[in-house]
Amino acid sequence: MSARLLVVDDNALNVKLLAAKLTRDYYFVSTTDNGFQALKMAEADQPDLILLDVMMPELDGFEVCKMLKANPKTAHIPVVMVTALSDRSDRVHGLEAGADDFLTKPINDIALMARVRSLLRLKMMMDEWRRREATAAQFALPSETEDKPVSGELVLLLEDNPEDRRTIERVLQSISLRVVHINSVTAAIDEAQTGAYDLVMTSIDLMNEDGLLLCGQLRARDNTRTLPILLMANEGEIDFVAKGLDLGANDYLLRPLEGSELIARVRTQLKQKHHYDRLRQNYEKSLALALVDPLTGAFNRRYLDAHLPKMMARFLTDKHCMSVLFFDIDFFKSINDTYGHPIGDVILKEVVSRVIQSLRPLDLVVRVGGEEFVAIMPESELKTALAVGERLRAAIANIPFFMPGHDKPLSVTISIGIATLDFEGGDTPEALLKRADEALYKAKQTGRNKVVSETEING
Ligand SMILES: [Mg+2]
Repeated sequence: MSARLLVVDDNALNVKLLAAKLTRDYYFVSTTDNGFQALKMAEADQPDLILLDVMMPELDGFEVCKMLKANPKTAHIPVVMVTALSDRSDRVHGLEAGADDFLTKPINDIALMARVRSLLRLKMMMDEWRRREATAAQFALPSETEDKPVSGELVLLLEDNPEDRRTIERVLQSISLRVVHINSVTAAIDEAQTGAYDLVMTSIDLMNEDGLLLCGQLRARDNTRTLPILLMANEGEIDFVAKGLDLGANDYLLRPLEGSELIARVRTQLKQKHHYDRLRQNYEKSLALALVDPLTGAFNRRYLDAHLPKMMARFLTDKHCMSVLFFDIDFFKSINDTYGHPIGDVILKEVVSRVIQSLRPLDLVVRVGGEEFVAIMPESELKTALAVGERLRAAIANIPFFMPGHDKPLSVTISIGIATLDFEGGDTPEALLKRADEALYKAKQTGRNKVVSETEING
């Protein structure tokens, strides 16, 4: 994982040492010796991570960090503060200024590199979500821009030292967090799968178990892949901490635990999680509102237009087959005219529901017009598509539709036209859909309630 790092320190020797270490690990490093310059470079160059000295003339590291985090153009860049002071209050001061970590000189190389890697990994993931949010924003929907404040969150705690456990519970409760204590790694993994938790805290030197096991296991499971993990370790265990960070832990605390640092690190993790959750929810919500037909839950035309060209280009290049089914409800206008639009809507919903149940999860159903739909079937050749088409036709025709307020159910049928990706002569989305539409037209002309493939158009 290569990345661009900015090193800020007023001491030329420190800069040189740090830059040399990082360059050796294949990072691209730029440097500056003052805070004002650092602010400019951060905004202009958009580094992936900033290593920031605390003691600098004019603008000190705390000020620089606060300004970076207050600027929307640089707020997302992780900051690691570096200091010769080993005073706890400085460390907490740094975390409160928005720093993601605080390392003490002389810097332990293993701890530094593990920290850099873990922060970079997190940033890559957040960048991907920020990009998706930007894509969703193209569809011009209002989205939430404020992260929710930290309060009332649920913390899962695995710590078998009774004294530390009491300290953690007392401190976290004092900032209105709720703590659930669990006794074993296995139980903690199961408990975390419930999705109820906002943070997991685990000791890495449990009496009978390996706390690091929890990191790996939580990261391997979908439900907990992004759940923040905070490790607790002794001063001499920095190698294990580094391993934990590589396994996906987000941060660590060294014993003896101290209240204000505990609070600062827990708050940082919870804020980060809220931010991530918000990006993801905004994305999903925008997608749902902009790209899905609210009546039937099928995708809309806009989604088809955005997605099909990309999908086809990939399938044509990779020589993977793909088929499309163009279908519509027979005599739908007369259903609306006879029973009214509310019943027409019930029929539309039920048709889509039956179609989706008859398809695979990776197939897409799109409502392209009033009673017109397209189903896209990746990795399906014409023969498969014909069999699926027949199954869809039967799923609609064989079971009459219940109509609210009417005693007798209604017989409904659909007609289906099928076309498949043509690898010769540069197929296009328009051409593919047109061939399927022509096959549908033929199905309509020759009796409805039937499936016609593009090979039969001229037959
Ligand atoms: Mg300095």
